[in-house]
Amino acid sequence: MSVRNIALLGATGSIGASTIDVVARHPDRFRISAVAAHRNVERLAEVCRRCRPEVAAMLDPASARELEKLLAADRIPTRVLAGADALIDVATWNGTDTVLAAIVGAAGLAPTLAAARAGKRILLANKEALVIGGELFMRAVRDGGAMLVPIDSEHNAVFQCLPHGYARDPEAAGVERILLTASGGPFRTRDLSDLEHVTPDQACAHPRWSMGRKISVDSATMMNKGLEVIEAHWLFGVARERIEVVVHPESVVHSLVEYRDGSVLAQLGNPDMRTPIAQALASPQRIESGARRLDLAQVGSLNFERPDFVRFPCLQLAYDALDAGGCASIALNAANEVAVAAFLSGRIRYPRIPAACATTLERVSSRMVASVEDCLAVDAEARRIACEALRLPPSAGASLAA
Ligand code: NAD
Ligand code: MG
Repeated sequence: MSVRNIALLGATGSIGASTIDVVARHPDRFRISAVAAHRNVERLAEVCRRCRPEVAAMLDPASARELEKLLAADRIPTRVLAGADALIDVATWNGTDTVLAAIVGAAGLAPTLAAARAGKRILLANKEALVIGGELFMRAVRDGGAMLVPIDSEHNAVFQCLPHGYARDPEAAGVERILLTASGGPFRTRDLSDLEHVTPDQACAHPRWSMGRKISVDSATMMNKGLEVIEAHWLFGVARERIEVVVHPESVVHSLVEYRDGSVLAQLGNPDMRTPIAQALASPQRIESGARRLDLAQVGSLNFERPDFVRFPCLQLAYDALDAGGCASIALNAANEVAVAAFLSGRIRYPRIPAACATTLERVSSRMVASVEDCLAVDAEARRIACEALRLPPSAGASLAA
């Protein structure tokens, strides 16, 4: 068996840590050869000590210099690179065949797109790249001869429930609907009038999953599920009418596919990202992930509800953006990134998140997007509008960092 060399983008994050954990269980199969992160030097140094990659890139040049010093002191021969181009170097690093895309937010688009063009096997956690890149991204995957395997737990579940070799054609496969499950997050039953006063820590206290702070807030607003509807549309070539969200507070059923004959297939498991990561890494084989076995008798009962679009306006906004097409999804994602960052840093209250997203969707100038430059122009315009709507300085509109 040959060893698969992996480039890990977002190595210092929550998905990065889960990936390192799974890979460490299978040194005969996988090796992390290249890593990238934003500016968490201590964490990336630790990753380098543990994984000994050939190359490590940091977006922030000062952090990269710091990392270089730390590694030199430990005599670790990892080459250190800096800047946005370095992220692309890591994503296309010679000798790696697999790219695990786990940068958070729009910042992940350029490197992930580069990996697609280079024909890599892409294990995609960075849903925002697909929400923004949409058709462009899927075309790059096709033209580059890349392979795309979703890591997002819902999409990985759908991937597992679709026939092997599914080619983005629901008709041909007899697929009627895709059902994405959503936990409902920490505010599913909270008094609506309380939402004005919830804190970032309360929003990040997800009842089932432990994740990075941005996606945790997205889960609380259900923007996460909205982005996932858009993600599913592009990944599986399924029209919006055939993608439904069902609230399932236990987070045991990770998503379902309904077929023409009435069969509904689901994938179940304990909520632990190491399961979809291991599945994507080894597919079509199965490997140990470290996740706890599911004990159904202990779970007892599984509950399902329709989503409440009044409580979760972000979910409706995402469906609206998908309907509007083109630049709307990019604008929605950008406004959400700005608003979530502002909420996490204590500058705005929680209900301003959907409000800023709605205003941005209304105000952004509608246009076709045919290139990455077009995407980035819409992203920048939307960030400006969202900052204005939230009365923040334009500098607050920069991409999220960790
Ligand atoms: P996180 O905040 O824990 O980690 C984010 C990573 O991205 C860090 O390594 C950080 O250094 C890097 N990063 C941030 N901004 C960057 C930039 N501008 N340039 C380069 N690197 C940058 O986030 P996470 O929870 O690990 O999520 C990562 C992605 O995976 C997100 O897109 C999220 O939606 C998706 N995802 C996460 C989970 C989960 O359980 N955590 C589940 C499904 C999908
Ligand atoms: Mg998910």
